[in-house]
Amino acid sequence: MTLRELQIGKRAIIESVGGDGALRQHFLDMGVIPGAEVKLIKFAPMGDPMELRIHGYELTLRLDDAEKIQITEDTTDRPDTDVLLASLGKKAALEGAEARTDTRSYRHHPGLGEGGIFHDKCKGKALPEGTVLTFALAGNQNSGKTTLFNQLTGSNQHVGNFPGVTVDRKSGEIRNIPNTEVVDLPGIYSLSPYTDEEIVSRQYIIDEKPKGIINIVDATNIERNLYLTMQLMELDIPMVLALNMMDEVRGNGGSIRINDMEALLGIPVIPISAAKNEGVDELISHAVHVAKYQESPGKKDFCDENDHGGAVHRCLHAIMHLIEDHAKRAEIPVRFAANKIIEGDERVMNALNLSDNEKEMIEHIILQMEEERGLDRSAAIADMRFSFIEKLVHETVVKPRASKERERSEKIDRILTGRFTAIPAFIGIMGLIFWLTFNVIGAWFQELLEGGIEALTGKVDKALTSMNVNSVVHSLIINGIFKGVGSVLSFLPIIIILFFFLSLLEDSGYMARIAFVTDKMLRKLGLSGRSIVPLLIGFGCSVPGVMASRTLPSERDRKLTIMLIPFMSCTAKLPIYGFFTSAFFPGHGALIMIGLYLLGIIVGIIAALISKRTVFKGEAVPFVMELPNYRLPGLKNVVRLLWDKAKDFLMRAFTVIFVATIIIWGLQNFDFNLSLVKSSEDSMLSIIAGFIAPLFIPLGFGSWKVATALISGFMAKESVVSTLTILFGNDAGIREALSPAAAGALLIFCLLYTPCVAAIASVKRELGGKWAAAMVLLQCTVAWIVSFAAYNIIGLF
Ligand code: GDP
Ligand code: MG
Repeated sequence: MTLRELQIGKRAIIESVGGDGALRQHFLDMGVIPGAEVKLIKFAPMGDPMELRIHGYELTLRLDDAEKIQITEDTTDRPDTDVLLASLGKKAALEGAEARTDTRSYRHHPGLGEGGIFHDKCKGKALPEGTVLTFALAGNQNSGKTTLFNQLTGSNQHVGNFPGVTVDRKSGEIRNIPNTEVVDLPGIYSLSPYTDEEIVSRQYIIDEKPKGIINIVDATNIERNLYLTMQLMELDIPMVLALNMMDEVRGNGGSIRINDMEALLGIPVIPISAAKNEGVDELISHAVHVAKYQESPGKKDFCDENDHGGAVHRCLHAIMHLIEDHAKRAEIPVRFAANKIIEGDERVMNALNLSDNEKEMIEHIILQMEEERGLDRSAAIADMRFSFIEKLVHETVVKPRASKERERSEKIDRILTGRFTAIPAFIGIMGLIFWLTFNVIGAWFQELLEGGIEALTGKVDKALTSMNVNSVVHSLIINGIFKGVGSVLSFLPIIIILFFFLSLLEDSGYMARIAFVTDKMLRKLGLSGRSIVPLLIGFGCSVPGVMASRTLPSERDRKLTIMLIPFMSCTAKLPIYGFFTSAFFPGHGALIMIGLYLLGIIVGIIAALISKRTVFKGEAVPFVMELPNYRLPGLKNVVRLLWDKAKDFLMRAFTVIFVATIIIWGLQNFDFNLSLVKSSEDSMLSIIAGFIAPLFIPLGFGSWKVATALISGFMAKESVVSTLTILFGNDAGIREALSPAAAGALLIFCLLYTPCVAAIASVKRELGGKWAAAMVLLQCTVAWIVSFAAYNIIGLF
């Protein structure tokens, strides 16, 4: 039977894993391998995807994908393996305690300064004084990487980009240790070449050759976390293992035999709690030591000649011998290269530059291994790694009987992902966030800011008047510069507050649940549940919505999501709706408001469905995702994120918005002879508006005044209303100029046409100038078509 047919609460053993390419490799990397035990926990409220327990953690995957996994149901009523292991662990721990007393005499103690095997073997090879010790910080998602990075570097951080992709590259000097640099690699589960994050990570390590790797591992979920560890060790770079979340392990009565683990892995293992800042100093001194003395991992050989007749072992070693010289020339660690070749990694294969003969030999060796091992190549390698991990964990980890955090998570999930409660809870939580952001804290913040800017503007205005400054300069300063700065700053409160809530959602573990709950809905649009939050934020403001899409795992998903965000009616459009309904359709405010929101969504859905079949063909990255335990977000992380986002927005958006404000100011105040205009009718802006106005005749509002308002709306949507009021004098003037059908069409046009300049600036930041331009063009075209249709339809009545 397939995994899809498993019943809730039932257990099974995986027989085989189907699918291909990225999806299959992703399955294997997450521990979905033949022989693994799975238990079905629940289905999402809409019936899809499913939540599984495997290797002691929660995983979610779609039913269509589950169909590709063959299982045999386990109908015995023995306890679950982790329960079983935990009770065994207790016993083993007691026995181990006895055993350890008599083995102590010959066990090496690698602690720093104890003269252990890991710390003075290469004293002679120390790097010269003054060499900058660069470290890569690598680990799974949710392992506490951000928390540790912040502990290591404090406030000395810079954010950049990895070349060619929109993956943040954060780096910084370790606190109080000069000549060091830690680079925070993205959260990954493997070094497969299927996601930007994984490619960036391995290219960084292979090409830039950091002096050391700090691998952070979630000790409460150690089996799956160690899978990445083994691939990192194959890269043959000095490495230390930071066992994080030890506070939770200890709190539940578990323990880890650190010395044994060090002996088995041949690298320093340091128990830490990043959140409580425990063990971090020790971690730093070990990391600096291995990097300084270039002590590469003592063990890289994870294959076992006794494992299933040693087929994988022989295959790996044979290939390693075959490609040794090529690997050396390409400067790729040979064991890593051999493993990746077996997994079918094209990038490594191409980099090695093998001859046809060699490729053929390798293929034969692999085929032989597949036959002997009875598994295909990728599964055989994954199985080899997990077998080693299993042995390692068996010998070194004493599992607690139950994890308080996990029990707590299960209880919380009964509501937050419960069948009938999940969606109401989600709506409630998002509603609360919006209410707080836009009505309570945000409004207060914004008022404060606006008050400040206004006061300052007033003062400067007075000063300029008293100094008799030239009226052009005066206007430039007040209406150009101050207004520009003001409109940039007006976004800040919203960005900061929204990201405050977003980081709470993300760090607490709820974000993954949101994706789990809403995935089925979004899949129809060619997206995954992970896009729902950026899209929803778009209803508040496109800028933070676009910024929030950064966390999406695939370029394709990110692009499609960003293209859809402007269709969500942002709060800056509300004044426009309010103004028109009171002028033209009094008494129908609510109806029109709801209608506009719905129209935006519907047009967005249609756009998504079309682009899914054209520009964004192909599959989204596989939706195989961990549901981490709920955890308390760390304050430092939250503050750090807010700071980064605010800085990012100011640095990227400032120039664009500022320049645009000055240009609009110039267009409003000068004519084409560059002399100051007396009436706005003669300004460049109104002349340009006059040129484009005929475009709007088919929509019923082809006057230069409306066109001017629309152009000024490009700066900020609210200004459509203020410009209209200035140009038409009052409501009556507008009512005379526009028929109700034209007013309706104009409303719809305002809903759908180009996003404001701040939003465009953030799109440019995420996707580049071409995409930003394409988006403006697309939105304007769509707006025109829909308005045209609306004008003619409303006109019929
Ligand atoms: P990342 O996804 O790897 O960057 O993980 P984060 O650093 O964002 O951490 C995920 C969650 O785990 C956050 O809520 C942290 O506060 C929490 N966390 C991190 N380290 C520890 C730790 O050592 N102990 C405990 N109890 N929680 C931690
Ligand atoms: Mg993080």
